[in-house]
This record gives sequence, C-alpha cells and structure tokens, in this order.
Amino acid sequence: MSGTTGWSGRYDVVVVGAGHGGAHAAAALRQHGFTGSIALVGDEPRLPYERPPLSKDYLSGDTPFERLLIHPESYWQERDVDVLTDRRVTTVDADAHRIGCDDGTALEYGHLVWATGGAPRTLSCPGHELDGVHTVRTVADSDRLRAELPAVTRAVVVGGGYIGLETAAVLRAAGKHVTVVEAQDRVLARVAGAPLSRFYEELHRSQGVDIRLGATVERLEGDSQVTGVRLADGELVPCDLMIVGIGIVPAVAALRAAGAVGSDGVEVDERCRTSLPDVFAIGDCAAHRNRYADDAVIRLESVQNAHDQATVVAQVLTGTGARYDAVPWFWSKQYDLRLQTVGLSAGHDATVVRGEPAMGRFSVVYLRQGRVVALDCVNAVKDYVQGKKLVARQMRVDPALLADATVPLKELAAVTPAPS
Ligand code: ADP
Repeated sequence: MSGTTGWSGRYDVVVVGAGHGGAHAAAALRQHGFTGSIALVGDEPRLPYERPPLSKDYLSGDTPFERLLIHPESYWQERDVDVLTDRRVTTVDADAHRIGCDDGTALEYGHLVWATGGAPRTLSCPGHELDGVHTVRTVADSDRLRAELPAVTRAVVVGGGYIGLETAAVLRAAGKHVTVVEAQDRVLARVAGAPLSRFYEELHRSQGVDIRLGATVERLEGDSQVTGVRLADGELVPCDLMIVGIGIVPAVAALRAAGAVGSDGVEVDERCRTSLPDVFAIGDCAAHRNRYADDAVIRLESVQNAHDQATVVAQVLTGTGARYDAVPWFWSKQYDLRLQTVGLSAGHDATVVRGEPAMGRFSVVYLRQGRVVALDCVNAVKDYVQGKKLVARQMRVDPALLADATVPLKELAAVTPAPS
C-alpha cells in the first residue's frame, strides 16, 4: 500500500477501482504472466476486500474485517502491484493516456482498466440527508451502521432487493423492529420471479419483519436525526435508523467525460474494451451484450461478473484472446437460508417450482420459449450445481420433469438434446 500523494508516473496498466473486479484484474494479469508495471488505484483507505459480507456476516459482527481482505499486503508486494489507496480518479485524458486523481496524483498508462463499480442510489425526498440514514457499499458504511445499532429500536429499510432484505434479516436477528418499504408489488422484482418473491416475503414476515409493498417514501421526519418515514399514503412509520438499498449508479463520470460511449455505465465489447483506445471496463459499471439475457446489453452487479470480466482483460492483455461468455451466478444469505442463482431470469415466460417452499428447500426454474434460462435455488445446492448445465446450454426440458424433485437435474441434462 502506498500513501504517496501528488506523485506522477507511468504504469503499463493502471486499474481504477480496488473492489472485486479491480483486485482480480491486477492479480489475474500476474497469474497470466504479465510482467509490466501495474498500479491498482482505489478511493478507500484499505486494501481490496470482499463486499458481500458487508450486508450479512460483517454487519452482524460475525466476521471480522481481516477475514474480508481479498489478499494480504504481502500478496501485492510479492507480485509487484502498487496499490494506491485513498485517491479518487477524477479525470481521464484518453489521447494522452493519462488520469488525474483528487489528491493531485497524475498517472500515465499503457492500458487502463476501469473497475469502479457504482455509488449507492440515495433518496431525493425531503429529509434524505438526516443523520441515521445509511447506505451499504463500503466497510465504512457498514461500520457506521453497526456503531449506531446498539441504540436502535426501530429500523426502516427502503428497497426490497438483496441489500435491503439481507440487512433486514441482520437487523431482525439483532432484535430490532424492522419495516421494509418496497415500491414494487413484490420484493426482488428486478432480479427474480414471483414465486421467489412470495417466498422471501413470507420468510421475512414469519421472522417478524413488516413488509410494505407498493409503498413509496414521501419524506423523512426529524430535526437532525431521522425519527420516522412518511409514506405516500400518509402513514408515519417511526424509526431511529434507516437503510436505503435502492440500487447503484455506475461510477463512470470521468470516463464518460473523456468520451466513452454508454448510457447506463459504459459500453464494452466481448473483450471488455470500451470505445476509448486502450481502455477496458469491467464489473458493475460495464454494459455488455449478454447471451444469457437474450443478447440484450446489460450491466451485471455481481462478484462473479467482476471476476470473470477481469480474467478476460488479463487474457486479452497477455495475448490469449478470451471473450466474455460466462454463465451468471449469484448468491444471497438471509437468516439460515442460502439462495444460489444461475442464469438470468429477466424475460422468462414460465416458471416451474421444484421441491418444497414450505420446508425452505426448493428451486424456481425459469423458462423462455421452453428453454431453461435460470434457476433460483434455496438451500438446494444439488439443483444449483446440476442445473448449471441446463442454463449454460439453454436446454429444452419437459416442465413436468423439472417439477419432479425426485428426478435429479443432471439426469435431465444428460437426456435432453442441446438446442439446435
Ligand atoms: P440493491 O442491489 O441495492 O438491493 P436492487 O435494484 O436489486 O438494488 O433492489 C432495489 C429495490 O429497491 C428494488 O426492488 C426497487 O423496486 C426498490 N426501490 C427503488 N427505489 C425505491 C424507492 N424510492 N422506494 C422504495 N423502493 C424502491
């Protein structure tokens, strides 16, 4: 780690953003034999760490920070990667191949890898800046939240996505009174089908969480500290802490100002190249054409995607010519239930439920025009492992067989012909 400020220099590769994607890009370059100089620039004061626990085991206090580090400091030193912490890249000069940071540091690059992820979306209603209103993206965010928890009795979570539901589960397990306010008519609407949404709504309600669907926030009440949330229907939900989990805004302003093409994030091709020369983008901020999304241009907010796109960049820069074509997967933990997803369910036209939701062990299989496009598996690791092949090959499978949980998915994968 380096504390150097105001310094200027040149690296063969500068990776901007020291999250999962950036850290893995630097590591993968070395793994693939890249011998040039590498800088990994991040705006946090820490070495790269795992983000998923921030809304789960780190927030609950079960996992200490040391266990979150992706690699210890010695790893970066041994691989001769300069990790430049605590500085934010604010300008990109694509012609000069130069970036500028908020601390005055200027770096020239041979290739630039933009891996900045995004900033949490915030509410814009009156009161959104009151104390006690939190987002969860960094260790500092999670630490601030944890520090307030002992004094908290009632919490409101805005947004019923994974961040909202995971943090609601942690707060509830800590004995807080929790209300989830979700604008859509079901939770997880962006990422999952109705059977999974209904299951998680029931789960949280059975744990004592008050879930409000189709509910929007009119304003936050309080003088300096939040004391309640006024909903659009006039109801006041009292609280002494709020968590806002309503998605992210991709952190691409500097790159877009430099001319990179994109509307939601920056667009990249199958080799993760942006429209700017020698500039790649990976992870949450990279809009790419994805065959698991029916060839739509999408961003994927997952560790797996950041990791796989980082690998592609490392392979491209070391001349092995890879293309991004990974099967998306994701996981979530709420209470004692582990959800594993594979594929992308958006655009599905049918769902099949396998197993017993009432027993907390089941899978939702998503079909598009008769082909398996995704699975959401709750405490059903076998389905997840065996179903990957069905998704990867987008196989056509008889829904009645899919619904029969006594038939292992690997048998269906074995007997079903691949799509023509
Ligand atoms: P995250 O990764 O932060 O969980 P998602 O986009 O997956 O983000 O989920 C965010 C959820 O928040 C979605 O279900 C969305 O409908 C909901 N949402 C977005 N804006 C609001 C809002 N102003 N009030 C309530 N819910 C919201």
